[in-house]
Amino acid sequence: MIAVTKTFLPPQEEYNSYLKRAWDKVWLTNRGELTIELEEKLKTFLNSSSIIITNNGTIPIQIALKLFGNGGEIITTPFSYVATSAAIVWENCTPVFVDIDPDYLTIDESKIEAAITSKTTAILATHVFGNPCHVTEIEKIAKKHNLKVIYDAAHCFGVKYNNESVFNYGDVSTCSFHATKIFHTGEGGAMFCNDAETYHKLYYSHNFGHNGPLAFHGLGINAKISELQSAMGLAVFPYINHIFAERKKVVDFYNKNLDLQKVKILKIRENTEWNYSYYPAIFDSEKTLLKVIEALAKENIIPRRYFYPSLNTIDYTKGKEMPISESIASRILCLPLYVGIAQEDLEKITQIINTQIQ
Ligand SMILES: *Cc1c(COP(=O)(O)O)cnc(C)c1O
Repeated sequence: MIAVTKTFLPPQEEYNSYLKRAWDKVWLTNRGELTIELEEKLKTFLNSSSIIITNNGTIPIQIALKLFGNGGEIITTPFSYVATSAAIVWENCTPVFVDIDPDYLTIDESKIEAAITSKTTAILATHVFGNPCHVTEIEKIAKKHNLKVIYDAAHCFGVKYNNESVFNYGDVSTCSFHATKIFHTGEGGAMFCNDAETYHKLYYSHNFGHNGPLAFHGLGINAKISELQSAMGLAVFPYINHIFAERKKVVDFYNKNLDLQKVKILKIRENTEWNYSYYPAIFDSEKTLLKVIEALAKENIIPRRYFYPSLNTIDYTKGKEMPISESIASRILCLPLYVGIAQEDLEKITQIINTQIQ
């Protein structure tokens, strides 16, 4: 089967050589040497102000909302993975959706102010498919209304905006290192911030609130990554530039060979160094999309409807209508994109799609 993605695995001996260090020390979690080493390497590679690695990419969103949401209304995007909305509801806050830009697919910053009320405490926006939100405008709005900004940057490993890591924007940014993401630790994630006080709160929150073994700074949870996961991250890390380069080739192939008169693709925001994390294709109607899915399935090619459904239509979010997000969600398909996908498969995929959309 050809799926939307395929996890990049390093040579097993290389993973084992990191595991051996955990065995030798008999140390499997609680910020061991592998986790510290991975944090250092990623911080340098990303040129980020700070990083705390976590056990997945959802818990950092929850921690940020716990610190800054205060049970209030959170302005958010309806076009993201369900974790974004679910984290808001899980933390007893209320999602208030703002529709997306039809080209960039990120929250439409020009519609944010109209959604702000006296109960609004934060903005939680997703840099969809690694495409940055309009971070400068969002920062301006947040300052004016005294709101915190949290970015779900789950897709953004390696993305730069205005020559700096996109993780450096917002009060807190989060990333996912899930096995389906561009850089991974099997399960894992990270949170980033620029400010020492926020870092301190994020840090103790991710480790039960501990202030030393016997005292507590405040409420916390267990968001620690294990050494076994960090070993995977360390084994994948040396291949990261190879991963970007191979994925770029696939993206270039699709761009060159798909009929872009009939399929709309993602518009990357200006001044962005993108990471080739996803290849969303937007069709003219859901009918065409379903035709394409059916034709691909006959060849055992199974892409994913990222993101569907629009998050404002899920029972528990109780969102208002979001015409652009709902329309895009019904017509968008992420095409197979991973290191090692065969040239003949790419040719087959583009041929099938080009035939179905005529
Ligand atoms: C993958 C993803 C998450 C969740 O990350 P996990 O590591 O799976 O918990 C959150 N938001 C978005 C947009 C994602 O794609």
